[in-house]
Amino acid sequence: MLRIIKERIHQKYHTLDYPRKQPTLSPRFMGRPSLTPVDCGDCRACYAACPTGALLPIEGAPHSTPTLDMGRCTFCGACRAACPKQAIAFTGEHRMAAFKREDLLVVPGQPAPHETTPTVPGEFSIFRRSLKLRQISAAGCAACEADCNVLGTLVYDLPKFGIDFVASPRHADGVVVTGPVSENMRLAVLDTYNAMPEPRLVVAVGACAISGGLFRDGAQCNNGITDILAVDLFVPGCPPNPWTILDGLLALKK
Ligand code: SF4
Ligand code: SF4
Repeated sequence: MLRIIKERIHQKYHTLDYPRKQPTLSPRFMGRPSLTPVDCGDCRACYAACPTGALLPIEGAPHSTPTLDMGRCTFCGACRAACPKQAIAFTGEHRMAAFKREDLLVVPGQPAPHETTPTVPGEFSIFRRSLKLRQISAAGCAACEADCNVLGTLVYDLPKFGIDFVASPRHADGVVVTGPVSENMRLAVLDTYNAMPEPRLVVAVGACAISGGLFRDGAQCNNGITDILAVDLFVPGCPPNPWTILDGLLALKK
């Protein structure tokens, strides 16, 4: 027994005091994109490099730095590498979740929406004390699922916030959907959603669930859960960093 106590003292406390203390992420982490407005001329290098069509020309300004849709982005960095004008960069900011799909659009030279507008819808206030979620893996590659699972470990300690993943939709306040939702998962997703008592939330985690990601417009896939149900929280990434997911879930409880 003494040996165990000694070992616990030696190991110290590993759960981060989030959100009061922000995590230190690897310098290689690619967080919220930062776009510098430049005159691109006829260059289309970033459009050509992007595997998911996440870069969108700005209406009325087709020769300037494009808008970047984080809902489609896999954060692969190919556009950054392709740009001869260094107009595309990725910051270390992990807080990227949004309640509105349009807030996932990063516009050159404009601050992030969450820095300028309150984003917490009032109807979610009933979940402030306890939030139970059912996870549905709807044809994902298992990376988003792994980053949801890791939230239960001692570093993140999701249950200390009153948030838990539960086994039955009957006990859930919302579903967390990962993957593009293949056609053969569509019915299971709808059955799970309909089995939850109202009010019920839908959280889309990862590029696939938000937009289809790399599987977008595939013959056997939907373009994410957004094709099927109204989504209340979007968590971008491929996969999203666990801190990005946690930050989004905590926003539901503010
Ligand atoms: S980082 Fe995102 S926007 Fe850039 S090429 Fe990759 S998927 Fe496309
Ligand atoms: S952002 Fe960079 S790579 Fe993309 S079109 Fe402009 S100059 Fe070319």
